[in-house]
Amino acid sequence: MATDLKDQELLVYESRIKVPYTWSVGEVGSRFLTELKENKKIWGTKCPICEAVFVPPKKTCTFCFVACHEWVELKDEGVLQTYTVVRYDSDLIPGKKPQIIGIVLLDGADTGIAHMIDGVSPDQVKVGMRLKAVFNDKRTGQILDIKHFKPI
Ligand SMILES: [Zn+2]
Repeated sequence: MATDLKDQELLVYESRIKVPYTWSVGEVGSRFLTELKENKKIWGTKCPICEAVFVPPKKTCTFCFVACHEWVELKDEGVLQTYTVVRYDSDLIPGKKPQIIGIVLLDGADTGIAHMIDGVSPDQVKVGMRLKAVFNDKRTGQILDIKHFKPI
């Protein structure tokens, strides 16, 4: 056996890891999630310069780099901007498969929110379709307090 490893074939080990973690969502994220949990309301923040409305809310405008202090309540309805269909089971993506994951641009917002789309089959889903948020009855202060978006 050679002692020099430069000719050693490199093997790749494929596996999965699950790493539990916690982190602060910050003051902006806390207000956003608290409104979902307690009032079933979706709020965004508005840039004082370009007037872009961010949902989920951002503390700082990603275009102007200024603080967004103004809060804007948004309707729970919007338009599907894009989507993909997940066809495999995963702990990370709850719900039965196939599962549609989309970006929903809520009315009055300038950025979309990623979420699950239900109530429409993968062969019927269309970019531009109108959607409405469906809230979970039991909410815990997380993005999944919105159960999914459904066609209207
Ligand atoms: Zn801005």
